[in-house]
Amino acid sequence: MSVTISKFTGSGMTSDRTRARMIEALRVGGVKNERVLNVMAEVPRHVFIEQALQERAYEVDKALPIGHGQTISTPEIVAIMTELLCENGIPKKVLEIGTGCGYQTAVLAKLAKEVYTVERIAPLMDKARRTLRDLRYFNIIFKHADGHFGYANGAPYDGIIMTAAATYVPEELKQQLVVGGRLVLPVGKDSESQKLMVIDRTADGFTEKVVHDVRFVPLVPGIL
Ligand code: SAH
Repeated sequence: MSVTISKFTGSGMTSDRTRARMIEALRVGGVKNERVLNVMAEVPRHVFIEQALQERAYEVDKALPIGHGQTISTPEIVAIMTELLCENGIPKKVLEIGTGCGYQTAVLAKLAKEVYTVERIAPLMDKARRTLRDLRYFNIIFKHADGHFGYANGAPYDGIIMTAAATYVPEELKQQLVVGGRLVLPVGKDSESQKLMVIDRTADGFTEKVVHDVRFVPLVPGIL
């Protein structure tokens, strides 16, 4: 019995410690928003990754495979995008396009009141739904759909984040923002030339800025 207990404590301690190191690395890398860092210190990223790769779960710059040709976004990019999304305050209602394994969804669900998440590959969405239910997240609404069109039923959103690269900025996503809301997304025709963009909806229209070179899997039309 005591062996079992110490084993559990041991592995828990190890992942808390490695997660704390990940947070330090993110801080050194320039992430400043303490709310974002605190939340990332809490979400167990290894739980979203298959067992054989779990020991690499807290490397800040590693995009690991999650099946179906997709990858989990690196902690670095999750932190950067979440920080951008929260720059003008924590959004209450968020739309995420590209659920994948659900890690970014979990980070958003700890910050926002309500998260809508859209994924085109049904088995990935089902797995993410199970993982997030097991972790007891109850403020996430899942939708199996093509995220090019956002998710009108939940609109308008205070923040929208897309975790696959579109070749253009979908007009529907802009239209599903509240005035004062923000869209963060990678845009680019091929994987070599993607840019992370921030689009704010103002009373008069939209402002756009390009913030980083990035590399994401493509936003693909249609559902599977
Ligand atoms: N945030 C996720 C990223 C996964 S990769 C994670 O860290 O796990 C990008 C995801 O976007 C993939 O799961 C992919 O299937 C999904 N995707 C690609 N095109 C899409 C589309 N048109 N609509 C919805 N999801 C899409």
